[in-house]
Amino acid sequence: MSASRTVLVINSGSSSIKYQLVDPDAGTARASGLVERIGESAGHIEHRNDGEVTERHDRVTDHGDGLRQVLELFQEVGPDLAEAGIVAVGHRVVQGGRQFAGPALVDDDVVATIERLSPLAPLHNPANLRGIQVGRTLLPDVPHVVVFDTAFFQGLPEDAATYALDREVAEKYSVRRYGAHGTSHQYVSAQVSEMLGRDDLRQIVLHLGNGASASAVVGGRAVDTSMGLTPLEGLVMGTRTGDIDPATVFHLARNAGMSIDEVDDLFNKRSGLKGLTGENDLRQVHRLIEEGDAAAKLGLGVYTHRLRKYVGAYAAVMGGLDALTFTAGVGENDAVVRAGAVAGLGFLGIELDPEKNAARSKEPRVISTDGSRVTVLVVPTNEELAIARQAMSLL
Ligand code: ADP
Repeated sequence: MSASRTVLVINSGSSSIKYQLVDPDAGTARASGLVERIGESAGHIEHRNDGEVTERHDRVTDHGDGLRQVLELFQEVGPDLAEAGIVAVGHRVVQGGRQFAGPALVDDDVVATIERLSPLAPLHNPANLRGIQVGRTLLPDVPHVVVFDTAFFQGLPEDAATYALDREVAEKYSVRRYGAHGTSHQYVSAQVSEMLGRDDLRQIVLHLGNGASASAVVGGRAVDTSMGLTPLEGLVMGTRTGDIDPATVFHLARNAGMSIDEVDDLFNKRSGLKGLTGENDLRQVHRLIEEGDAAAKLGLGVYTHRLRKYVGAYAAVMGGLDALTFTAGVGENDAVVRAGAVAGLGFLGIELDPEKNAARSKEPRVISTDGSRVTVLVVPTNEELAIARQAMSLL
């Protein structure tokens, strides 16, 4: 029997660390967990090993302390990291700017570049960097690899990536469309190519989680995506506006006396489904609709209208469409949203099979009719596995 190989995948946020020990060959998670409330008076760690959950409620002073406690848990309840054959640590990084079109082995230069890109992702890159720094200190003997959310969209055609903004300002302040969720769009579109046995597909992927984004992919290469300079642009999300007239900012600043920070908070945290319905979770939105709540009905309508608009736009961008795929929490589970996203799109050759759409499953599957010109699919995303495999590709 060959020894197993694993990659420890780390997704470090401002006050949390998510981790997963992935077997990239089998495509399975050996263990996973979450450190929350870093820096608060009481922290929380949840560690899962073989279906067994271990929890800790001690204070977690900082990211270094959090990762140290996680490594202790691996030692106490397993799996033993030495025996698990850990060959790399893969770190998720949100913003790779124009510098990274793929994964990179971490060295001091890479760290410095990620740091320089922080103004483009002030909430994320500094937090990602903390994970990289403590990871390198605590696990110095294995290579560390960074995988960027933006990398898949680094090759977007200039026509799609450029904003119609004064060129000098855009250049000086690096204002362009970088996209996000790229690891998921790349992984899911590759799965679809494999499932359909074609590498020339014109695809749309709808990643609908709390954050949500659409991509247009031709022959494995992204040609458009809905998130832009930041993950605020595009689809309606759990708490984010998605597309909105930028003059709304001027209007609120002038007439409501809102500061830039207040508008930022409003657009990112108090809008989207949450702003429209009071709930950011679609399960709750459906519950409200069943109770006859008119605002919730409108919220779902705004959400699915935006999806249809992007599907139509991206079919036009690609000059046709072969496959449309739903993924992430909403996309994988919500048959009502899926039906709403393609309602009236029969003219594009999209024909959903209502029974297949309603069936619940954790497996990748086709939900269109046999006669549908466009194959509609549900494919569960797995960003951790994608990060682990990208890390392996550099070893
Ligand atoms: P994140 O962007 O945080 O990674 P996920 O991809 O896990 O998000 O998606 C989370 C969202 O998925 C929830 O907010 C909820 O709206 C939605 N969701 C999860 N399960 C279901 C379900 N069974 N039906 C409808 N929506 C669901």
